[in-house]
Amino acid sequence: MKKARCSHCDAITENLPVSHVCKQCGMFSNDWYIYDWAAFVSFKRMHIVMNWVVFTMSLSCLAAIVFLGIDDFFLWLLSLLAFPAVYDLFKSYGALRDQDKYQGHRMRDTCSWIPLM
Ligand SMILES: [Zn+2]
Repeated sequence: MKKARCSHCDAITENLPVSHVCKQCGMFSNDWYIYDWAAFVSFKRMHIVMNWVVFTMSLSCLAAIVFLGIDDFFLWLLSLLAFPAVYDLFKSYGALRDQDKYQGHRMRDTCSWIPLM
C-alpha cells in the first residue's frame, strides 16, 4: 500500500496523483510524502553500503599518506571524503532506527550526496 500525503494541506490519498496536483487544495507539488517503508529502507541500505565504500576508500588514502609517505594533494582530497560519509552513515542508521517516527519520505530524502563527488 503506497499512500501519499500532500505537503501543502496534509491530505492523504491512496496513490500519488500522476499530475502531482492535490485534489483537496489544487496545488502542484514535487514534495509529496510517500508512505513506503520498504522502499525507504532499501534506499537507506544502499546509501549505507555506498558510504562504507567511500569511507573505506578515504581511510585507505589516509593510510597511504601516513604509512607509505605518499604526499599527493589528490589523496588528501579523497581522504577528506570520510567526513560526509560518516555524517551520512549516522543519518542513514538513525533513519532506519526510527520506524515509529516514519511519516513518509520525499524524493529528495532518497537522494545521496555521493553523485556530487
Ligand atoms: Zn493538498
